[in-house]
Amino acid sequence: MIEMQDIWKTYADGTTALQGINVVIDRNEFVYIVGPSGAGKSTFMKLIYREEFPTKGQISVNGFNIGKLKHRKIPYVRRNIGVIFQDYKLLPKLSAYENIAFAMEVIETPRRLIRRRTMEVLELVGLKHKANSLPAQLSGGEQQRVAIARAIVNNPAVIVADEPTGNLDPETSWGIMNLLEEINFRGTTIVMATHNKEIVNTLRKRVIAIERGSIVRDQLRGDYGYES
Ligand code: ADP
Ligand code: ADP
Repeated sequence: MIEMQDIWKTYADGTTALQGINVVIDRNEFVYIVGPSGAGKSTFMKLIYREEFPTKGQISVNGFNIGKLKHRKIPYVRRNIGVIFQDYKLLPKLSAYENIAFAMEVIETPRRLIRRRTMEVLELVGLKHKANSLPAQLSGGEQQRVAIARAIVNNPAVIVADEPTGNLDPETSWGIMNLLEEINFRGTTIVMATHNKEIVNTLRKRVIAIERGSIVRDQLRGDYGYES
């Protein structure tokens, strides 16, 4: 599903964020990415959703060698990858419904299908009754649910979640995890960077720890492994 071979990433200012990453993440896995701030977690995620490009090495997602992809093909790869952020990144002037529908419009989905599928994912995240609310009218947890609905609306093979519970209180965070587990159960691979020790140590899954740009630990049903 996701394969990295000797991936290196050096930013324009000379900062080396990843050095020699080798990893295989299979279809339907749920993987936590842990490690100190500045370790390279976000960079690792950005390479998967093609926000950044590797300086060296091979990366493939769902069979596409995305290091080499032509620019015009990017939207079609992104369609296979849903992204969730700590700060939700919803479009503030669009309603919950429109934020989700927009992700289908950009890949030219027929209008009838957009309506049906948008309502379906709103229902899945428990927010059908908030379809017409603007992001500012929703709680943090509800905004994250809209973001999750937007991430899954095109049926991606992979969800990349960068600190999805980072701005949420514990109870709301468990609700979000419940939803991500349900999405994973339905067949979507999930890669989630997190600092949430309690979640990692309770909902046991594969744990990949990154420190100073390298993978230092990779455990099935692993633990968080840091103090906080
Ligand atoms: P993490 O997500 O684990 O906190 P990042 O991947 O964000 O780590 O950062 C890894 C390293 O790369 C850090 O030293 C960070 O300062 C640096 N970095 C991240 N993004 C950029 C950028 N756009 N330009 C230069 N350096 C960056
Ligand atoms: P909260 O902590 O925000 O109350 P809950 O987990 O109790 O979150 O769920 C709130 C709404 O989200 C419910 O209406 C429910 O339909 C929906 N929901 C929660 N978990 C799932 C799930 N795993 N699959 C589908 N819908 C879910």
